[in-house]
Amino acid sequence: MPDGPLDLESARILVTNDDGIHAPGLRALERIARSLSSDVWVVAPDTEQSATSHSLTLRRPLRLRKQGRRRYSVDGTPTDCVLVACHHVLADRPPDLVLSGVNHGGNLGEDVTYSGTVAAAMEAAILGVPAIAFSQMRKSDGSVDWKTAERFGPDIVRRLAQVKWPVDLLVNVNFPPLDPENVAGIRASRQGRREEGTTITEGVDPAGRPYLWIGNFMNDTSSDHDTDLAAIMEGAIAVTPLHLDLTHKTTLKRLEEVFQ
Ligand code: MN
Repeated sequence: MPDGPLDLESARILVTNDDGIHAPGLRALERIARSLSSDVWVVAPDTEQSATSHSLTLRRPLRLRKQGRRRYSVDGTPTDCVLVACHHVLADRPPDLVLSGVNHGGNLGEDVTYSGTVAAAMEAAILGVPAIAFSQMRKSDGSVDWKTAERFGPDIVRRLAQVKWPVDLLVNVNFPPLDPENVAGIRASRQGRREEGTTITEGVDPAGRPYLWIGNFMNDTSSDHDTDLAAIMEGAIAVTPLHLDLTHKTTLKRLEEVFQ
């Protein structure tokens, strides 16, 4: 954490997600957060916001709805939720930690550039709050089980709370689609990269108008062994530190020579 270990018992934790306030994964993350601290707040989108990335609502008003004790929803994006939470709902005392998820489906490799789950953690990092995004890989039949996230989540947060984080860092955690007893450990990994595999399906709607439908179904294979993709393929939990500074340092050096 930025100034050394974070005392989780006295920490104020904000929980959010991109699957919406009614998502079962949000309930799982609330249970994880409540096992660590008694000061847990939820501000999550009214409706599903998956793949909305880091979008921010500026052209219309937002509605904040109280959903229960320390539980609110916002009719906006995950980024809107973090901003409303930190600058309005919790303005008296901002959170010490933001947890996002647990997402229904993995956020590996280039997924992080589309993910609303990861973007909520990015927004927290911009505000100077340590943040962890959690995602649960789907099983082959498309279903999701939250047992593994609930079994390992608290320990992962406790261990990350001991680490000194540089500013602008967030951590992306992915759980493999396995029962807790079959998980092959927790592995620090780097962001991987899949082969590009987008499909565009053409069709005709019931009114006779042509449509295009983007499908982004890529397999999670990776030839590298130190990536988030490889960790999940091998049945481990992937813990990937991400940084807001997207500058490519090697190219920067080259460009300094080119443009000197
Ligand atoms: Mn989602």
